[in-house]
Amino acid sequence: MFTPLPDKPDHPALELEILDVWEREGTFDRLRAQNADGPTWSFVDGPVTANRMSLGVHTAWGRTLKDVFQRYKALRGFHQRYQNGFDCQGLWIEVGVERSLGLNSKREIEQYGLEEFARRCREVVVKSSEALTRGSIRLGQWMDWGRDYFTFSDTNIEYIWKFLKIVHERGWLYMGHRATAWCPRCGTSLSQHELTQGGVYQERTDPSLYVRFPLEDRPGESIVVWTTTPWTLPANVAAAVHPDGEYGLRENGEWVLASLFPDDAFVRRVPGGELVGLRYEGPFDTLPPGASVDHRIVPWDEVTFDEGTGIVHIATGCGPEDFELGKALGLPVLQPVDESGHFFSDYGWLHGLSTADSADQIVGDLGERGLLVDAGTYLHNYAHCWRCDTPIIYRLSDDWFISVEDLRETLLAENAQVHWVPEYMGKRMDDWLRNMGDWNISRRRYYGLPLPFYPCACGHLNVIGSKAELAERALEGMDQLEELRRPWVDRVPIRCEQCGETVTRIPEVGDVWLDAGIVPFATLGWENDTWVDEGYATGAAKGLTRADLPDHAYWETWFPADWVSEMREQIRLWFYSQFFMAVALVGRSPYRRVLAYEKMLDEHGREMHASWGNTIAAEDAFAQMGADVMRWQYCAQPPDRNLLFGYGPAHEIKRRLLTFWNSIKFLVDYANIEGFEPSWSRLEPTGELRPLDRWLVERTKQLVVDAETAYEATLTVDVMRSFEAFVDDVSNWYIRRSRRRFYSFDEAAFSTLWYALVQSLRVIAPVMPFLADHVWRNLVQDGPESVHLAPWPEVEPPDTRLLEEIAEVRRVVELGRQARSSSQLKLRQPLRRLVVAGASRSAEGHAEEIGDELRVKEVEFGDVEASELRVKPNLPVLGPKLGAALREVRERLARGEFEELDGGRFQVDGHVLEPDEVLVERVGREGWAVASDARITVALDTGLDDDLLLEARLLDRVHEVNALRKESGLEITDRIRLWLPDADLIGRYRERIMEETLATELGEGELRIERA
Ligand SMILES: [Zn+2]
Ligand SMILES: [Zn+2]
Repeated sequence: MFTPLPDKPDHPALELEILDVWEREGTFDRLRAQNADGPTWSFVDGPVTANRMSLGVHTAWGRTLKDVFQRYKALRGFHQRYQNGFDCQGLWIEVGVERSLGLNSKREIEQYGLEEFARRCREVVVKSSEALTRGSIRLGQWMDWGRDYFTFSDTNIEYIWKFLKIVHERGWLYMGHRATAWCPRCGTSLSQHELTQGGVYQERTDPSLYVRFPLEDRPGESIVVWTTTPWTLPANVAAAVHPDGEYGLRENGEWVLASLFPDDAFVRRVPGGELVGLRYEGPFDTLPPGASVDHRIVPWDEVTFDEGTGIVHIATGCGPEDFELGKALGLPVLQPVDESGHFFSDYGWLHGLSTADSADQIVGDLGERGLLVDAGTYLHNYAHCWRCDTPIIYRLSDDWFISVEDLRETLLAENAQVHWVPEYMGKRMDDWLRNMGDWNISRRRYYGLPLPFYPCACGHLNVIGSKAELAERALEGMDQLEELRRPWVDRVPIRCEQCGETVTRIPEVGDVWLDAGIVPFATLGWENDTWVDEGYATGAAKGLTRADLPDHAYWETWFPADWVSEMREQIRLWFYSQFFMAVALVGRSPYRRVLAYEKMLDEHGREMHASWGNTIAAEDAFAQMGADVMRWQYCAQPPDRNLLFGYGPAHEIKRRLLTFWNSIKFLVDYANIEGFEPSWSRLEPTGELRPLDRWLVERTKQLVVDAETAYEATLTVDVMRSFEAFVDDVSNWYIRRSRRRFYSFDEAAFSTLWYALVQSLRVIAPVMPFLADHVWRNLVQDGPESVHLAPWPEVEPPDTRLLEEIAEVRRVVELGRQARSSSQLKLRQPLRRLVVAGASRSAEGHAEEIGDELRVKEVEFGDVEASELRVKPNLPVLGPKLGAALREVRERLARGEFEELDGGRFQVDGHVLEPDEVLVERVGREGWAVASDARITVALDTGLDDDLLLEARLLDRVHEVNALRKESGLEITDRIRLWLPDADLIGRYRERIMEETLATELGEGELRIERA
């Protein structure tokens, strides 16, 4: 006996119930024990930043994909690691805490106290990791919860120290002095890859200023520059022209690039080279820094001719290109603003003003001094700090870099070995590896990896590679070192190994991507001599995890990862940082295969923003759609397109899922009536199989084979496509065509449908772990307790000939339905004749089924004479191919001057048009409804006679009676007594009426039924 099913599944309720069952039965532990001796499949989890207090639906997407493939591989018997990771340091967390404490600057953080600040940041990680764990469990993700890695553990930090020491020994570590992207609010530089994160470039309106610089030796003449950053003008040191550009002198004495002002009249034109070397008055020679500079016009090949004036204001301290030019030409460097973006004291009346606040005053001052030619506004995409949204500035900074040049070739070669899905993601990585600059690893912040650099006045750079080494060389402070982090680590000075002097650590912390990049080493025990049980919980991670610190043999087993998966954005972030670190440390890629996917937007295609009210909390989605429906939505998504996530798409998925549910319910309902009791030990169908049963068996094998191919290719979208097509075939073909066989006990029908559904549950279990297990536990009562403990189904290759035959029949039926609906005839109206042309011979054996499906008396295979053919060009495809010839082809097609070739091709005016280049329409002549695809055409005789009309009335009546049965609450097997008012129907169709309504008696009278 199966447990009866409700009309619709209550997803949240059944999911919570299954979570309990898994917990009670230890299902996940049993699965892992079952696979313990299996081959390994190594997955490494990219850490989620532990700063949110609930799981987001975008994070749930990635977690679903990870879970799906780990579950699939587990069904295939693979022994796996299930370690979840939390990213615990960096600006995300730090800035959040800063805000919650109401702190607004680095000075305020220091006043607050770094020790307390670090503890508050850790608290966020603790709470967030708990919340994210809860959300992930609710999502159905099976991980080794409680044995997670936390990137702020001393172990993780020590591994990064070891990496940095090796990098230093190889000569790749250096301190760079350059103009760098800088967030004035966070008071730190940002690296190139931080600027590539989503949301960094935002539209913004800036001032657009045209400013005159008077030429010293040419009274009355001046050069005009254009800038959108007024605050950089006080740091001007030069003006650059293109030596080959043609510059023009306006009547009023202003020099600009002539081609940029085509409407202006110029009294003189000279090549830029002639202006080079001229001296001009700097825009802020009124202030000491400007006054100290000898301003001259310099040549620069990078001056562009498409914007501005063709004369570029150069502030070497405020822009990376300016800085490089200055270095090449030996220009002076002015640094106008401090870490927080405020003017230094030598900038006179600007002192203390921020880069943003100074704009108006600078514009006003230039105006008063007659230097402003024009002032307006300029809308452009400008980089903002990825964490706090402040527009970035460029300023001089001493940062620590890792040089990439020595590694670039190996990086490129290793990337070429990685299997990227979709393929273009690998190309993106390749582009990035070719063009990226050195890695800026230092940040002037508090809550992050402490860089173990101890530069000494003697010129020696001490780099510490481990906590033990620090202890050995420490002069004091080891006793208070509770975590290998700020501020504790700053209190441990060491002795310089070169000169013996006392040296202290630099205050900088590391780029957060070092933390995540070291994971394939720090969590797998690389070069670690002895295994330490629960040994990973060091420093800040103490008490948070029971993760082991494995030994080197373990690393050998699990490195590199067979598979990793994250969003596309991670190409330049986590995919990159771990790739770089692995290639630096061991010369090879840390992963073999990657699945990357595009962004999540709301269901209307807009970005999700809390302030727009279109974000969805995972908690709400669990309660309103259920985790299985969310997971379906994620899995149905092609990874190369943005996912439009929302309740609308979820509703549509529920509708499709209901088709599957209804098929299961159909089996359960009739099996209970007929006492059908299948057994796992006889999985294959039993009894006298009919052709349709044999077809469903083969169709099921095809599902298994297709889904397996899709899972192996890590393309869930193809899993879902094959599953949905299967669900449609079971419901709209097998059950539709076999319904009556379930009204009494037909063993073959029951056992075949049961087999098909059970196999499909095994296939879809990784995607919908809850619903699949819930149904499994009902349908399979003497097999493995959980669908997740049953292995992946092993099947023979399907009989493709048979599958194609039925697929062909279904195509003909589908076209027949189209023809019917175009004729406006109601579905219950029987028709006389259908003619099918172009179908393969195999469909001919199914004429009866086709006729039955379409309520047509006769089905003929032959030419469709009752139609005319219209062919039109498929413009988007044919336009580019034919060009000017399109017009003639189009006209000839319209006049019917073409020849039909085989395979759906057409010949027109000497051109052969392929099937996808034309739109074919076959129009029925009077009395015929026609539908066609590229190959098959069907024509439906729409003529009606008295017999057909009478039969239509019969079918309407039967339908009416059966609706009445349902309304009266009769069981599907109850017999009735029936009265009908239609003497003609009773006279002609008595037996058929009684059979189709389960009537034992049929009389004439007002329509009514009684239970017999
Ligand atoms: Zn910032
Ligand atoms: Zn020294």
